This record gives sequence, C-alpha cells and structure tokens, in this order.
Amino acid sequence: MSTAAPTSPWAARTARFGRARAAMAAAGIEVALCSIGADLPWLSGYTAMPLERPTVLVLPADGDATLVVPRLEAPRVEAGGELFGLRPWLDGEDAVGIVAELVGRRRRLVISDRAFAGLLVDLQSALPSAVFGRASAIFGPLRAVKDEQETAALRAAGAAADRVAEALLAGEIPLIGRSEIDVSRELAARLVAEGHRRANFAIVGSGPNSASPHHEPGERRIGRGEAVVCDFGGTFHLPGDAGYCSDTTRTVVTGEPPDGFSEMYAVLQAAQAAACAVVGAGISCEQVDGVGRRMISEAGYGEHFLHRIGHGIGIEEHEDPYLVAGNTEALAVGNAFSVEPGIYLDGRMGARIEDILVLGADEPIACNSSDHSLHVVDA
Ligand code: ZN
Ligand code: ZN
Ligand code: ZN
Repeated sequence: MSTAAPTSPWAARTARFGRARAAMAAAGIEVALCSIGADLPWLSGYTAMPLERPTVLVLPADGDATLVVPRLEAPRVEAGGELFGLRPWLDGEDAVGIVAELVGRRRRLVISDRAFAGLLVDLQSALPSAVFGRASAIFGPLRAVKDEQETAALRAAGAAADRVAEALLAGEIPLIGRSEIDVSRELAARLVAEGHRRANFAIVGSGPNSASPHHEPGERRIGRGEAVVCDFGGTFHLPGDAGYCSDTTRTVVTGEPPDGFSEMYAVLQAAQAAACAVVGAGISCEQVDGVGRRMISEAGYGEHFLHRIGHGIGIEEHEDPYLVAGNTEALAVGNAFSVEPGIYLDGRMGARIEDILVLGADEPIACNSSDHSLHVVDA
C-alpha cells in the first residue's frame, strides 16, 4: 500500500531545476548542457535516445532552459511547462548551431559526462571561446541525494530483485547442467516478470568463473559442487519517474561446497554485515570500505578483494557516491549505494554479497533483504 498521496512529478522536477541552478551559480558555471545520460531524465523526466541526432537541454544558470530535440522524438517529451521550452529540429537543420546560439556569449559550460565525444568536438568548434567541464561536477552531488519518490522507487526495484534472489536461493532456478548464459537469461526474464521495465545485466559466474567479478556469462555448464555468483539488476519505474535501478548479488553452491569455500564465505558474510552496520550520516565513504576490507584482510584474503566495496545507484547503475579508499566524503541522508565485498581466488572460486542501502533520516533502509547465509542449490 502506498502511504503518500500521488503528487505531480513536476513538483520534484521544479525543485531539481532550482537546486541545479543554485549549484551552477555557486560553481561559476553559466550553462549546463544535458544530453544522453541520467542528468536530463533526473531534471525533466525525459530520457534522450542514445543515437547520433543530438538532444541537448540548454540550461543557463540565469536564463530560460530549452530542450533541443530531434523533431521526430519531440512527441515523447512531456511539455515542461515553465521549466523548459522546446526547440525541435528537423533533419538537415544544424542542431549544434541551434545549441550554440542558445548558449550565446556565455563561456563557462558543463556537458553531460556521457554525451558523445562527437557532439562535444562539434560544440568546441562552434563555441571556440567556451570552456567545458564535466556536468557530474554539478549533478553528481545533487543526484546522490535521493528525495522521497526516488527512495520509494529504489525500494520497489530492490523488492522486485529480491523476489528473483529468493527464487534462486530456494532452488527454483535450476543450475546444475545448465549453461551460465541460459541461467542469466532466466534471471533477466524474472526481473522483468517481477516488474522491472528491463533487465540491465545478469552476471552468472560458476566454478572458476566465480573468481571473475564481472564475468560475462557464457556456454560453460554449471557443475555439481561449485560456487555460482549471480549479480543482477534492472530498471524499475514508478508512475511518472525516470526509472531507478536494482542491483543485488547472491552466491550459492551446487551441492557440497568446494574445499575452503564455507570458511571463505563466512568471512565475507561477516564483513558485508559489518560494513552495512557502520553506514550512517557523517561516516565517510572510505570508512565503510575500510571496515569490510579490514575484516577480509585479517582473515588472510586481503589481496583477493579486488574492488571498492560499493557504488552509488539511482537512475544509473553506478553513480555518486563511490565507497572507495581515498573518498573522504561523508555519507549524507538520501544517499543510495551498494555494499558488495567479494573474495576471488583466481581460477578456483569466488563469492560476493551485495545489497543496496538508502540512508534514511533515522536509519539506513535496506532495499535488499534476501537471506545472506550460504544456500545449497541442489537443482
Ligand atoms: Zn559491478
Ligand atoms: Zn551488482
Ligand atoms: Zn553493484
């Protein structure tokens, strides 16, 4: 049951335009150019197609915003009311010239990190005196603080992914004798069946492949007595939102665990729980990584924990804040991020446990709560 009365998504979008302009003014940025990537849907609800025709929201700190959009894609844009005007362009028109004209004499610009390099190169020619920076400098910290609607979307996405994880842990998804890619396709289909609009990835790493954190599932047949790392997620929409990501990992064994696996898994499970327990407002990103890493190192697996402990999540799978050594930034209420330590013994076996947490006003909210203990899937 939903507790909040449905509100127009434009209220949140208006607030976001205001926060963006304030952050731009504080940083001395005159115009933000939002193309493909998550900044544009975060602001406007509109996701540009990642095709060669440029889509650019020209957002001046001190003037009216205009969405420059291919004419044939304009019908997909919800009218922006007072937040932005539309400048549809036809094939044959000079879209870069239109953007340059809207920028005018302003010089200090940022552009979406994920904009095509080709667009940036063309804009640099059209605006020779402009200085370009990354839009993530402005939008990263803003998007890292989720509002109530975004938190609700992340929780719904996590709950849907958990239903898939629970089926995996319960042995309802057969593993033994199947290829990794076949299991990966089933995980992806289940993510959609549980309410995601699309699956973004479904890593299945079995046996020696479980030691490769971002393994590309292939034709390998899963055998008996192997570790199987399953890391999957998709994009979930609540009405009116831009789509928010799920991302969870569970590791199971097919029958009798390989030698040493249970001991290794117990270390991992304790480290993941300790790292989750330490998160809170004011705790630095690197402290969370440090807590998990110390426990894994003290148990002798330090060199086998090959990656940071977590990443922020929202409209994008990976975004600010990054929970990594060297990031002294403090966690703040509204941050959403993964806690996902792993231990990987090259060529032998590996394990990872991953949950998404959102830092609520009072306490952290777990978006994933499927069981963490080691499950034997005898199917
Ligand atoms: Zn990853
Ligand atoms: Zn993951
Ligand atoms: Zn992740």
